[in-house]
Amino acid sequence: MVAQISGEEYKNIFNCSPAAILVINTDAPIYTILDVNDAYLNATNTNRDELVGRGVFAAFPANPTDEESKNIERTIFSFEQAITAKKPHTMSNYRYDIPVRGTSEFEERYWTTTNNPILDENGNVKYFIHSPANVTELYKLGEREKAGIEALKAQRQQLHSIFMQAPVGIAIFRGPDYIVDLINPPLCEIYAKTVEEMLGKPVFEVLIHAKGIGFEEILDNVRLTGTPFKGEGYPAPIVRNGKLETVFFNFVYEPFREIDGTISGVIAVAIEVTEQVNAKKQIEEAEERARLAIDAVGLGIFDLDLTTGQMITSKTFANIFGFENPVPRTEYVKVFHPDDLELRAKAHAGAGDAGHLFYEARVIWPDKTIHWVRIEGKVYYDEASKPLRILGTLLDFTEQKKIKEALAENEELLRNITTAAPTGLWMSNEQAAITYVNQTWVDWTGRAYAEHLGEGWLNSIVPEDQEKASNAFINDLTNRDLYEVEFRIKYSDGTTHWCVANGSPQYNADGIFTGYIGACVDITEQKHLQQQKDDFIGIASHELKTPVTSIKAYTQVLERMLKKKGETKEADMIGRMDVQINRLSSLIGDLLDVTKINSGRLQFNDVAFDFNKHVKELIEDLKPTAEKHTLVENFSPTGLVYGDKERIGQVITNLVTNAIKYSPKADKIIINISLENNEVMLCVQDFGIGIDGANLHKVFEQFYRVSGDMQHTFPGLGLGLYISSEIIKREGGRIWVNSIVGEGSTFCFALPLWNK
Ligand code: ADP
Repeated sequence: MVAQISGEEYKNIFNCSPAAILVINTDAPIYTILDVNDAYLNATNTNRDELVGRGVFAAFPANPTDEESKNIERTIFSFEQAITAKKPHTMSNYRYDIPVRGTSEFEERYWTTTNNPILDENGNVKYFIHSPANVTELYKLGEREKAGIEALKAQRQQLHSIFMQAPVGIAIFRGPDYIVDLINPPLCEIYAKTVEEMLGKPVFEVLIHAKGIGFEEILDNVRLTGTPFKGEGYPAPIVRNGKLETVFFNFVYEPFREIDGTISGVIAVAIEVTEQVNAKKQIEEAEERARLAIDAVGLGIFDLDLTTGQMITSKTFANIFGFENPVPRTEYVKVFHPDDLELRAKAHAGAGDAGHLFYEARVIWPDKTIHWVRIEGKVYYDEASKPLRILGTLLDFTEQKKIKEALAENEELLRNITTAAPTGLWMSNEQAAITYVNQTWVDWTGRAYAEHLGEGWLNSIVPEDQEKASNAFINDLTNRDLYEVEFRIKYSDGTTHWCVANGSPQYNADGIFTGYIGACVDITEQKHLQQQKDDFIGIASHELKTPVTSIKAYTQVLERMLKKKGETKEADMIGRMDVQINRLSSLIGDLLDVTKINSGRLQFNDVAFDFNKHVKELIEDLKPTAEKHTLVENFSPTGLVYGDKERIGQVITNLVTNAIKYSPKADKIIINISLENNEVMLCVQDFGIGIDGANLHKVFEQFYRVSGDMQHTFPGLGLGLYISSEIIKREGGRIWVNSIVGEGSTFCFALPLWNK
């Protein structure tokens, strides 16, 4: 049996329902309230009499706290929906504030209301049930959640942008392989990689140089123990621009925790401090260098407090004063040389005004040795310009002092030597200007020192020799050759003296040419002796010539007479005598020639002649004298030469007789004639003793002779080649020699071909 619920009982249920219910008529636009339950009255703080029989909108006019509210329109719309569609219609989450009893205040309320149409048996809407649920709490919760989510979103956004823009490098490394889960551009920049190169890869696979140098262990420790790690000025090798560099970091490794607290990775925050570290290093190095420099030069350091009179000193400072270790200031003062105390006191007294302290004084060590010290300091002031302290250095310059004194002594000595030397001494700069002459030169010339500087020295030279001296100097200086020239200078007493000036190029430590240093020696005496010798030779040979000529004439007559008488043996002896007389007259001839050359009196009788023909005749004449040697003629056709036939013949004879003389073991001499560049060239080649390369250039000098044991083997005066070279030079030609010791010599001369 089914229990029947009476109308009264429904009424009770209606009233007891916890859901607020309003029964409303469909009489739009009034919508009369037909009934209301207790829950509704409770929820809206109203009573039954205020509501039943009144229109809904009369009972609940516009939203009391919000004039803009569209609640009325929404409600009418919902009513109409429910009535026309004949289906429940719900309006959700709208605000309608409720008055607080006994006050003029309202309470904020949010509602979700269902308008549920009740149909009659014909299916028409009889009335509808308006059932609002107070969703204030839920609504507010929802709003808060929304706001929370928004805030979270914003926060995330902010975090991300902080992360990306942070001026520090940030990264998250995940898992035991430290896969780069997140990394921001600054860190990428530090690593010199792009984000793409790093993201998703094990960090040590990308930064291979950072592998195996301890970073893995540090990360492992953070990840496994959860203890953060802080590193300062940590070096790490990084490849930048293709170069492996050591960069320095300050960094923090923090464990990265999941929500459940487990550690899944490490957050790294890093800034590069390479510049700072390097700057610090540089400062340290500079300090170290300064310290080393101070130590190296043996500088002592002091810091004098002028208000207390106390002084801090370095160990070197103490050592310079002869103490093992720093001592109080009063102790230092005691060891100053008594004679220097006043000077020291003065320096200190004046330091405040001068801004610095400087003096040199002597200190006496316990072993009684005296040391020179130089004290230099800078004064520091307070705001009132009162001197506060002096910071400074101390130097022991005893050695320098000694060296300086020794140098001064040396200089004095040198000056004395240069003055005492009977030699003029001079120096020039790299531009041939004289920068120094010694006292001897000044004394010789009687001109003031300054007058010789630059080109002034030339004024002391006799006018005829000035050009020669100056040109030779400029020329040798340009070629950096040794300078040697003879010239005459006028002495202060009016006499003329011969000088030979020598100079050698000077170079500084860098090999740069700096000028010449040289000397001038008075050779007047030698010149005199030489002249006497020349005169003597001249007179002697001249005096010898006449008797020898007449002896020769007599021997020739005698030889002829003896031959006629048939006394062949005697005639033969006289013949040998004649050969010796020939030698004698040739020697006298040489001496006479030299005399003539030296006095400029060698005469030339120049004519044009057939060179080859002349040489041929000469060789024919020479053949009888060459007993052992064949004279090989190797002549190319040449032409005419303009010159002194006899003198040129003399040269050829000399070369051939020398060749015979200096090749006693050989059996031939080659005479070569050729034509080259309009020059006739004659060479005499022998296979004899040869000439040492060192002496080769000397053979054309006056009186140069083969030396040593051979002097006796090969007699002679050493004049033939000198005369020959003078002749060839005077005829406008050249003479030279090539030779190898033990193999032979080739003497050549060249003369210009005669072109009419
Ligand atoms: P002299 O022959 O009278 O010594 P010269 O002036 O003719 O004088 O020669 C000078 C020096 O040159 C000789 O003493 C000798 O040392 C060297 N000399 C000359 N001609 C030859 C030669 N053909 N071979 C080797 N040495 C030579």
